[in-house]
Amino acid sequence: MKWLFGFLGKSATRFFPLIIWLLVSCTSTPPSSENTPVSQPAKPQKEGATVIQEPPPAIDTTHWYVYLTFDDGPQPGTANCIQICKEEQIKASFFMVGLHTDRWGAGKRLVDTIRQAYPQFVLANHSYSHANNHYRYFYQHPDVALADFQQAEQLVRPNFRIARFPGNNAWGIEHKEKSHHLVAAVLHKMDSIGYDVIGWDQEWNFRHTNSRPVQIPDSLVARTMQLLREGKTRIPRHLVLLSHDRMFSRPADSASLQRYIFLLKQQPEIVFQTIDQYPGVSKSPAIAAHTF
Ligand SMILES: [Zn+2]
Repeated sequence: MKWLFGFLGKSATRFFPLIIWLLVSCTSTPPSSENTPVSQPAKPQKEGATVIQEPPPAIDTTHWYVYLTFDDGPQPGTANCIQICKEEQIKASFFMVGLHTDRWGAGKRLVDTIRQAYPQFVLANHSYSHANNHYRYFYQHPDVALADFQQAEQLVRPNFRIARFPGNNAWGIEHKEKSHHLVAAVLHKMDSIGYDVIGWDQEWNFRHTNSRPVQIPDSLVARTMQLLREGKTRIPRHLVLLSHDRMFSRPADSASLQRYIFLLKQQPEIVFQTIDQYPGVSKSPAIAAHTF
């Protein structure tokens, strides 16, 4: 220390604050790099235990996730959806209707096929009656609606307690701002028994006269990529696409589904994923699902 004051002579007092700063800087630990997490939660350490710095959680900034979802099956078209997804080796989710399962023997077998194909496919609950297409009445009677979903669970035996509301783009209760107030009471009922309710970001529309797809695959893919690129999905980097099994019963229309998948597969960022992998889904087991 004396050498430093001697070197600086009379001006030492003027430079005193600077000297103190230099000494402190040289003896303290180096500043953390940009990549070091800003705040790591303090973990209790046993005395003498080696402190192991955990790496920060990986944030996937390289992929965009597309969740193909097919509603209202089993229906004519369901077998084509299964076959195409298997050929293309992609994941998809099927939201199925108990009534359709109940009344169609071949449909029952398709439902079993989907359930057993987990984890490539996820079988989910789309109610028993599809609200008999009287949506307002259905959502105004939450106990009736809950019983309807429970009846579907017994028949469809979904892989998890994951549901989609008939005729309503609703999401779980923590995202109620996205859902119509009409469905709030049913959302709470479903949440109380462990159901995650899933809506959608983009719809592949169909003509109500003949159930045929409206958008051609090329423009649908362009829109999918635009929504992802512009962050206009409910959760950035994750896009849920709604379509319906019956749209793909004709060969020309199932070829459209295959082309949509083919075009998306050309995009290096795209990963097809099942709805149980959607962020926040709790994957509660359904009571009657015991096949895996
Ligand atoms: Zn539906």
